[in-house]
Amino acid sequence: MAEGKHFIQEIIEEELKEGGRCYGKTVHTRFPPEPNGYLHIGHAKALEIDFGMAEQYGGLCNLRMDDTNPTKEDEEFVDAIKEDIKWLGHTLGDRFYYASDYFEQMYEYAVELIKKGLAYVCELTPEQMKEMRGDTQTPARSPYRDRPVEESLDLFRRMRDGEFEDGKMTLRAKIDLASGNFNMRDPVIYRINRLPHHRQGTKWVIYPMYDFAHPIEDALEGITHSLCSLEFEAHRPLYDWVVNNISVECKPRQIEFARLGITNTVLSKRKLRNLIESGYVEGWDDPRMPTLCGLRRRGYTPAAIRAFHERNGVSKVNSLVDFAFLEYCLREDLNKTAKRAMAVLHPVKLIIDNYPADMTEEFTVENNPENPDDGTRSVSFSRELWIEAEDFMEVPAKKYFRLFPGNEVRLKSAYIVKCTGCDKDEDGNVTAVHCEMDKDSRGGNPADGRKIKSTIHWVDSRTCVDAEIRLYDKLFLTEQPDLADCNYLDFINPDSLEIINGAKVEASLADTKPADRFQFLRVGYFCADNKDSVPGHLVFNRAVSLKDSYKPEAQ
Ligand code: ATP
Ligand code: MG
Repeated sequence: MAEGKHFIQEIIEEELKEGGRCYGKTVHTRFPPEPNGYLHIGHAKALEIDFGMAEQYGGLCNLRMDDTNPTKEDEEFVDAIKEDIKWLGHTLGDRFYYASDYFEQMYEYAVELIKKGLAYVCELTPEQMKEMRGDTQTPARSPYRDRPVEESLDLFRRMRDGEFEDGKMTLRAKIDLASGNFNMRDPVIYRINRLPHHRQGTKWVIYPMYDFAHPIEDALEGITHSLCSLEFEAHRPLYDWVVNNISVECKPRQIEFARLGITNTVLSKRKLRNLIESGYVEGWDDPRMPTLCGLRRRGYTPAAIRAFHERNGVSKVNSLVDFAFLEYCLREDLNKTAKRAMAVLHPVKLIIDNYPADMTEEFTVENNPENPDDGTRSVSFSRELWIEAEDFMEVPAKKYFRLFPGNEVRLKSAYIVKCTGCDKDEDGNVTAVHCEMDKDSRGGNPADGRKIKSTIHWVDSRTCVDAEIRLYDKLFLTEQPDLADCNYLDFINPDSLEIINGAKVEASLADTKPADRFQFLRVGYFCADNKDSVPGHLVFNRAVSLKDSYKPEAQ
């Protein structure tokens, strides 16, 4: 478990001190998703750090759509990203930006670099550029490196005007062809690409590369700390080179942290999209997806997701976190916040033969014993109930203490009953279980204090309502489905969804609203599906089972 301060907090606090880089300044971070997919649990780590640092130090955090790449970007994703961030509990206010709004300024900074002799138009094809990239012993080459400034300025303007084919020319920063860091070997900072842009339309046919665009976006927004994941570490010298060589006042600092990996799933947007397009899941918000909208639909709470990231901490070492730890965090939250209810997934009739046929009782039960403020509700009881089929065995297995002929169990909060037998159809299937109640055990406590080993849940067949139950399991059968040399699709769990129709839930659930969460006693934590559940056709998703396979000490 993470304790104390993490290294980013230490850096920021040091810089805020008198004489530090940010002394007297407002801490300003940004979260820069590319709007080409929905946010997932890994993005949530980054955004918890970005928004978290701003909140902790009384600063600001911008949400910026990193939309400098014209392919596959869409307003649908922009709206979804905003919704997810708000759902996690962060305030956006009007701090919302598009990187593409800076295209004009980026162009001007590129011109500035050319004029300073720090950038040139190169006519190598991508293949030639690769060939001339050199290796650790040999510097890279470009025959265009020393072309006159005026020539580069003219060509760059004509690139913008659309005179040249895609791929025909690039603008390259003139840094160091012999650098041990290949990102510094005169990296391409602009390329020609005729794809239309989701906001700029066909205005541009040249687009800035990420490594050039990102530091400019940060500098223009006055970002003090540009927090990003570890794969950008080797790009930091280029980031610094850009902010130091263009005339911007703000010189943001890039700090990298480890990416989050999680077992039994994939987190790349490309792979997640492929799961949808290949029909393995229903969409970005399928409850099996590690996306925030998927987790939300599954029943995850913002508190559980934030606790998960907080406890994992922030470090510089990439790690793979057990999915069970995410489930552990959810269970901890739902144990405190979810109302209890009774639901029978695989119903079989239980008939109490000595209970009057025309009688009904109401029991008052606590909504959540963990939280008395949650109040009570009334649960009806009558002669015919539904119980789980697995709570009866005509011939009991060893150590089976539930219903079998001659055995007594407690019906949760109601009465003690003794099993007397069962009815069967001609195939031998049990159609009803019979029992007799102990009339002196109202509330479930025997008058003589005798020990009752098992308590089972039930619903009243007169008042209960039908429900569809969706039981979700891991999407992949192996911990790391996307290791480099394997095809993640080979590890798809074919049984990641089981649908149960005809479950019976207690009457109080009849007016359940989408996204309401419950602990179904003895069964698990469930959430009313936020798309498909309506009064008259209730649908509950299993958020997480009750059983905890996760040992906190192991963390
Ligand atoms: P993907 O590989 O899924 O497409 P990405 O990194 O390209 O992800 P972006 O939209 O660019 O997706 O991500 C926005 C921010 O979220 C980036 O700063 C990125 O570093 C961060 N991020 C993405 N995935 C993770 C992760 N698994 N753990 C931590 N941060 C992440
Ligand atoms: Mg990215």
